Amino acid sequence: MNQHENYQKLLSIQVDNALLGTSAAVLGWDQEVMMPKGAIGWRARQLGLLAGLHHERSTTEEIGELLQACEEDQVLTGAPRSAEATNLRMWRRDYDKATRLPASLVKEIAETRSHAQSAWAKAKEENDFSVFLPFLEKNLELARREAECYGPPEGGELWDALADNYEPGTRAKDLTELFTPLRDRLTALIQEVQSKGSPPDTSFNEVPVPKPRQDKLGRLVLEAMGYDFCHGRLDESAHPFTTSFSPADVRITTRYQEGLFLDALGSTMHEGGHALYEQGLPMEHAGTPMAEAASLGIHESQSRLWENMVGHSRSFWGWCTPLVHDILGGGLTGYDAETFYKGSNRVQPSLIRVEADEATYNLHIIVRFEIELMLFRDQLQPKDLPAAWNKLYRDLLGVEVPNDSKGCLQDIHWSLGSFGYFPTYTLGNLYAAQFFAKMEEDLGPQDQAFAKGEFAPLLGWLREKIHSQGSRYFPGELCEQVTGKKLSPEPFFTYLEKKVRETNRL
Ligand code: ZN
Repeated sequence: MNQHENYQKLLSIQVDNALLGTSAAVLGWDQEVMMPKGAIGWRARQLGLLAGLHHERSTTEEIGELLQACEEDQVLTGAPRSAEATNLRMWRRDYDKATRLPASLVKEIAETRSHAQSAWAKAKEENDFSVFLPFLEKNLELARREAECYGPPEGGELWDALADNYEPGTRAKDLTELFTPLRDRLTALIQEVQSKGSPPDTSFNEVPVPKPRQDKLGRLVLEAMGYDFCHGRLDESAHPFTTSFSPADVRITTRYQEGLFLDALGSTMHEGGHALYEQGLPMEHAGTPMAEAASLGIHESQSRLWENMVGHSRSFWGWCTPLVHDILGGGLTGYDAETFYKGSNRVQPSLIRVEADEATYNLHIIVRFEIELMLFRDQLQPKDLPAAWNKLYRDLLGVEVPNDSKGCLQDIHWSLGSFGYFPTYTLGNLYAAQFFAKMEEDLGPQDQAFAKGEFAPLLGWLREKIHSQGSRYFPGELCEQVTGKKLSPEPFFTYLEKKVRETNRL
């Protein structure tokens, strides 16, 4: 076979695997949105079979041989940002990761995680950390073994090998450099809000609004953002999420609570931001890394940008308030744009990450990041997790944790063995602010456009600079490519401080 044929053969195998993987994703979507509860047993078997087939077909020796043959060809790899070179680089990454784990470890991880998840759910419900502890210990041991199979990067540590699964190229050392100044400045700002600010009115978020009206508003906002309903749909699920089968079919879900219209709108815009990224990936490369997101952190930058930087802006509320009056009506007609704007930016330290505001959110993440590092560096024993957690919440957020259900048991991640995942949320916030600042530098301030419900210039910029790039760059490289600078906490802090001072009257 010549090199061209090798690449074509590899491409066809990989696209078939993507077709298989995304078929499983359709079943996953169905399970969350449509499936009757009683069908879970058979569905688990369907998904188990597909996952097994996918793993088997992604780790064949043939793929290894084709990869090696292609990599030796300068025509394919000479221009490192070409589609071919990008695909080969990312396929190599995935192949090495998948084949470095012995099948016995993969199986042990899968089995342990499903037990750990139910133990976690029970521990959380009964507020009993001791139910989860042995599973946390086992998950940590398995995660260490997994990380050892990948090996730490040069000059890095074990934790880095796991974080790299979510955020290619990320390291604890670099994150500590980013997060330390952020931690210090955020705690100072939040303390100032607590002691000197006056909290904005948020009573509008208690006004009951029927679900169909919230749904209508959400769809209208999504359309204005540029979400394409010809290639997507919006449904309801217990936990909002976005799933993509290809750029031609990107679905989102949201959650409505009658008294919390702002939360539903926020989560619709958040998932809408994820979905715009997926819809903007190049369809002609579907099924290959060129049509995949650069990382979870970059993904989160897109959701946060729309949810917070657009959805919590004064100009957005200038446009959206008449729609709220018109569509949601009822008791909300008495609130003006300024009230919605200020109320959506209220800063208040709390216990639960997923309910946190923009200012305190990153401290919730920093707590988890610091704890993970202590666990992996053997500076903390799993049994002492609750005490360490409660101390960090006291030190960073100034809140007392009343019990473990509202403390270290609140998130599902560690029960799934997802160590190294949490920082992607904060990276998303930092990337979002740096991208947004650069966008305004390129296009000029967008306030007037947002105030008219015009988001096309913003979306066009994101499409060109970020979405169309797929996995061409690692996240850190993409940031430098787009903004001309390394990622820094500065743009985020500048953006946040200005808004917080304004809305919490400092
Ligand atoms: Zn998200």
